Amino acid sequence: MKVIYSPQLMEEAAFRHLNHLERSGYRADYDEYHSLADPIYELPEDDREIAFEKVNKIFFIERLKLGDHVLRALEAVGLIPKRKRATRKAQLTAAALELDEAPGELAAEMGESSASIHNVPGMEGDSDEISSDDQLDPPTDNDSQIEGNTEDDKDNGEDVDDSVVAYDMIREFEERINEVHVKRAINKVDEGSNVLNRISGRPMIEMRVLASRFCNPEEAQELDAFLIQEFMHAKDMVDPEFDYEDAFIPGNPSVKNLITARFRLLWNIYVDSRLARTGIISTMPREARYREFDNFYRKIPEKQRRGIFEGIWQADKFTHEELLSMATDLESLMSKYVDDVDISEEERDYIHLQGSPCPLCKFPTYNWVDDPESICDEMVIEAIQIDFPDWENKDGGCDRCIEVYELRAGV
Ligand SMILES: [Zn+2]
Repeated sequence: MKVIYSPQLMEEAAFRHLNHLERSGYRADYDEYHSLADPIYELPEDDREIAFEKVNKIFFIERLKLGDHVLRALEAVGLIPKRKRATRKAQLTAAALELDEAPGELAAEMGESSASIHNVPGMEGDSDEISSDDQLDPPTDNDSQIEGNTEDDKDNGEDVDDSVVAYDMIREFEERINEVHVKRAINKVDEGSNVLNRISGRPMIEMRVLASRFCNPEEAQELDAFLIQEFMHAKDMVDPEFDYEDAFIPGNPSVKNLITARFRLLWNIYVDSRLARTGIISTMPREARYREFDNFYRKIPEKQRRGIFEGIWQADKFTHEELLSMATDLESLMSKYVDDVDISEEERDYIHLQGSPCPLCKFPTYNWVDDPESICDEMVIEAIQIDFPDWENKDGGCDRCIEVYELRAGV
């Protein structure tokens, strides 16, 4: 698998990160960046872009290790095999000692004499990983912005520890994703990921992320959670068992939006619950996710609502189709997680499940008026009851019918 970062992302992320370090009193990397970047303005105009890209890449990937967030997230969700920390660490310590003895060597590579290359205090939570494989392994690609996942076959013969137990399974996934493109998002709405070429057999993840997320090391956990959340969705999309399909969602735009929003929520819960079981922190704590769920399903009585959420949270596996049908049709969600005995006939009647028929026009209804009396004139209620003598206020109606009867009643 290849991970490719766009020049725009590397530029802005490195720039912001360095500025943040500088403001926090760590000038070394900042100064070094400028000592390399500033002379580029002396170059002929045509050569500048490539020269800047080179410097940005060195800082994004090697010096500031910002690409490690992406690699760690891919590792966490199992899209690439876990690197073996223990053995690596020993090698790294040895390598770091060598570096300490001969600081000139690495600096020479940069044509620069700064000795303080890694080890910005407090920069990363896990400073034991100051050096990554990418730096130790011989470069496999030329000077494009490619950071290969350098762990291929060579781990196979080595001692096996916990981190490689699921290697075969993970490897399958690794082969399903061909490339990961990480690009700069323009704004928050632009952020997110998608799997391209899913059908053609060379699937590629396109991830858009705000460069500002790379700026502050204290927000690294949020960045990691965001990347993991997105990669989990991408992983589902290439998992044959999940069986993702670009489904057609029926209905008018507001129905579509509602179903799409509910589908997204259910999928997020499915992602969160799996992460929670493996001890990975998600973008949102469970209670916050429940509140979101709460908002969408207010009409279901509290006890049953809890039960449904709990049921989804505990579920081991969902398919795309199951999630979508639960999002489309509340009845299927209810029947799956709520025992009939749990909910009285009367309660069930009153819920006005989205998608169930309006008692007046009989059309599947997503926008209910639960309590027409509270918003309509008495004349409207009377007009409805002339046509439907058995109808009571608590039966409610779709917003269109209520509107029609408002017109008829002349209010
Ligand atoms: Zn109606």
